[in-house]
Order: sequence, then C-alpha cells, then structure tokens
Amino acid sequence: MTGQDLLSNRVNAIDVSGIRKAFQLGAKLENPINLSIGQPDFAVPEPVKQAAIDAIRNDRNGYTLTSGDPELLSSIRTHIQRDVGWDMQSGELDAIVTSGTSGALLLSFMALLDPGDEAVIADPYFVVYTALGPMTNATIRLCDTYPDFRMTAERVEPLLTDRTKIVLVNSPANPTGIVLTDDELRELAELCRSRGIMLISDEIYDLFTWPEHLDASGHCPSPARHSDDMLLIRGFGKTYGCTGWRLGYAAGPSWLISEMAKLQQYSFVCAPSMAQAAASAALHTDMQPIVDRYHARSQMVMDSLSPLTDLPEPGGAFYAFVRVPPQLDCSAAAFCEEAIRRNVIIIPGNVFSRHDTHFRLSMAADEESLARGLEVIADMMR
Ligand code: PMP
Repeated sequence: MTGQDLLSNRVNAIDVSGIRKAFQLGAKLENPINLSIGQPDFAVPEPVKQAAIDAIRNDRNGYTLTSGDPELLSSIRTHIQRDVGWDMQSGELDAIVTSGTSGALLLSFMALLDPGDEAVIADPYFVVYTALGPMTNATIRLCDTYPDFRMTAERVEPLLTDRTKIVLVNSPANPTGIVLTDDELRELAELCRSRGIMLISDEIYDLFTWPEHLDASGHCPSPARHSDDMLLIRGFGKTYGCTGWRLGYAAGPSWLISEMAKLQQYSFVCAPSMAQAAASAALHTDMQPIVDRYHARSQMVMDSLSPLTDLPEPGGAFYAFVRVPPQLDCSAAAFCEEAIRRNVIIIPGNVFSRHDTHFRLSMAADEESLARGLEVIADMMR
C-alpha cells in the first residue's frame, strides 16, 4: 500500500482546495488589501489579556474538569439564564466549555449521528459544516437559501427525512451576514420539535448584531428564546478577538451535554485552561464600541456596493455576500482572481456554496483599507 492508500475515505471526501487557492493567490501579493479575513481585527481587551497572564503565573496550567472550569461554567449558566431565559438550575439543561465553537460542533455531530443519518444546513454555509458530514459518516443536506439567504422552516421542511437528526442554523451567518428574525427562528424551533429533530444554533457572531436586527428584548434573535429542546453553541473567539485561544461553549439538554463531555474526555480532554480562566473576565467586558465600529463598516459596504449589485443587507457578523453583477457574465471565481490581480483579496462563493455567483467580503479590516478595497470592487462592477 502507498501512503495515499492508507488514507481514510473521510479525509479524501473533504476538499480544502477552494480556500487554499484563495490564500495561495493572496500570499503572492506584497501589500494586499485583505478583505478575506474571518477573524476580528481588534486586540483582546486589556483586562481579559491580564486575566490569562495571571492564570498562567498563578499556575492554573493543568487540565480543568472535562466539561469546564467550574467558575466559568457557573458564569456561562448565569449568562444563558439571563440572555435566553433557560432554567439552568433545573437539572434538565447543562453546559460544556469546548475547544472553540468548532469543538462544540464536532462533539455534537459525533454524539448524534450514525452513518447514513442526515443533517440539514444552509447553502451558503460555513465551510466546516460540510466537512462534518464525512467526519461523522453522515449525510449533509443543503438547503438552498438564494437569493435572500434566509434558512426558513418553509425551505427546510421539504428536506427532512426519517434519517434527519440535526438542523443546523447559523445567524448572524457566515458568509452572508444575514440575521434571521425572531419569528423565523421560532418557526424553525417549532418544526424541529414537532419532528423530533435536534436544532443546533451556531451563534458565534451573536454579539455582532446590528441594532435594527435585534429582537424585542434587545438581543440577537435566538431560537433558544422559544425552546430549550435544542443545542445552543456560542464562542469567545470572535466576540473578544481571541480566536487562537480556542474557546466556545454549548448548552442544551443534559442527556446530550453529558455525551458530548464523554467524547471530549477522550479527544480534546478540556478547553485551554488559561483561556478558560480569562473568559470569566471577558463575559463582563463591554464590547459595544467595537460592535458600533463594525456596524459602521457594514454600512460603508452597503453604501458602496448596493447601488451596483444585488446585496441582501447584512444584519450582523462581519461579512457581506455580494452578487457579481450578472451583466459582467463572469463567475465569482474569475471575478475574485481579477480582484486579486488588483491587489484586493476576496473569496469566491464556490468556497461556501454549490453556486459561484457571489463573493464573501469581510469587514475585519481597518476603515481605510476597506474603503480602498470597496473602490476597486465598485470600479470592477462598473
Ligand atoms: N461557526 C461559524 C459560523 C464560524 O464562522 C466559525 C469561525 N470562522 C466557527 C463556527 C468556528 O469558530 P471557533 O474559532 O470558535 O472554532
């Protein structure tokens, strides 16, 4: 057997060529305007940094409990109770600290899916979602959400089969920035509950929700305000600018959280200890000035590109998913290659979708770079 023959079907089924190509093209540029970055461009708040440093100095460097540092878990429980109203004291619900939001996603899919089982995700999707299929030998069914990118119950329902175990919703969404309404999320929760399907809500961008898209209670809309029979996944990386610390959490039915903890025990073991120590401090940090700044950037994108093309208004996250004007008669891949030739890095839609009609533009770039990049893109569109 050659080395290639030894590899599993699992890895052969995962294709990273799209993203790799975009990065390889970008790497050749000397001083590019980079609008492809999927992580925030602000520094971790000083008190949060200090809490991590203190944790290391105070010898909090060993394993934590598998399900998380008790102090952090307690802060998370309180936070969830306040934010979505779940009764975290009842014993029916529990939480687990994970190695990034990605860790929570993988553990939940592993805990729920057998070979041949199905999970429904939106198209366009966050790239990890499709890879979770081969990783768990499950089938991923794509819910086409073009042209408005809303994963509604009406669009999901025809995709459900007797093998469907998971519907995974992501709002605010990567790569589109779309925020679903409270009603849309309630309907999804009701559909899943009525069919005995686990709704998983990836709310990693919850902090980045623009004011006009908040729900009546002033929060990022969440199905968790309508059901506790679901899994809520959130993260610290994007919210506090510490993506490399690998920290997220999941909350939901205790029967599921305990199985995720079992899998975590034998895989990730626990989330990084110093990051967990710092996260309690993070939960008390006011990030509103940063959110306002990202919101203003999102408005810059709308002002610049919406007169030129079809651009469903982002309600949050820090992305826009922009249609290459059809009259240009070119694929998004070709459009993005031309943008890269003009020193602007954006990612073609086919990396996140079966379609190749749009590109993802990230607002995690300073205002001056963003303005220059938008000018180049607008010029190409004209
Ligand atoms: N979900 C979505 C929608 C994301 O965009 C990302 C990161 N790009 C993740 C999950 C993974 O985040 P983490 O770094 O916390 O694993």
